[in-house]
Amino acid sequence: MIASERGIGMTSQRTRDRLILRLKEQGIESKDVLAVIKDMPRHLFVDEALASRAYEDTALPIGHGQTISQPFIVAKMTEILLQGIPKKKVLEVGTGSGYQTAVLSRLVDRVFSVERISPLQNQARERFYKLKFNNIKLKHSDGSWGWDLHGPYDGIIVTCAPEEVPQDLLHQLAAGGRLVIPVGGKHQSLRVIDRNGNTFEETELDTVSFVPLLSGQI
Ligand code: SAH
Repeated sequence: MIASERGIGMTSQRTRDRLILRLKEQGIESKDVLAVIKDMPRHLFVDEALASRAYEDTALPIGHGQTISQPFIVAKMTEILLQGIPKKKVLEVGTGSGYQTAVLSRLVDRVFSVERISPLQNQARERFYKLKFNNIKLKHSDGSWGWDLHGPYDGIIVTCAPEEVPQDLLHQLAAGGRLVIPVGGKHQSLRVIDRNGNTFEETELDTVSFVPLLSGQI
């Protein structure tokens, strides 16, 4: 590990360990997920000016009106997504900082991630390159169409909230696959949709607060 990844002071391992303790207290059980978050240098996924706050359990601004997701929600969604699916191919909609993408990339064979804001995507790509995370493929596009080329996916995770579940994402889910997605406008809830053959079973979980899924690309 290079020095910048290890961190010092407010980005040190001690500070990260405190975050892991908090995630455990809040009910995150997966040892694999906790281990990955413990090692992931979240301070490299935000602007340097915010690095000292990177291991607080909060969302932080990443520019362009977007945020890096709160560690708890990243842990929770990752844990739910990977429960009982083959850990081969996962699609993410909303790369943003790339933090959720990076966490997934340590837990599954291959991650595909789509982002509509080009500068955010480029920053994320740079981070993966520096960290030598080689199993991630990125695309600049409107993610409500998914990424047909590499589908079907064992898991799909959406990190921005559409008003309704995009149909293309359901089509690109493998049989036995799972979609985790926040849905709604002002009031959003986290949904888990499991595909069995051609039937889809939906479970509604907690209230959440994500940036909206917007159409088009910039
Ligand atoms: N997983 C990210 C979350 C970033 S916020 C992280 O932890 O940093 C959600 C992201 O979804 C934003 O970067 C936003 O630009 C992106 N987004 C919104 N609508 C989208 C769409 N239709 N297609 C792809 N990305 C979208």
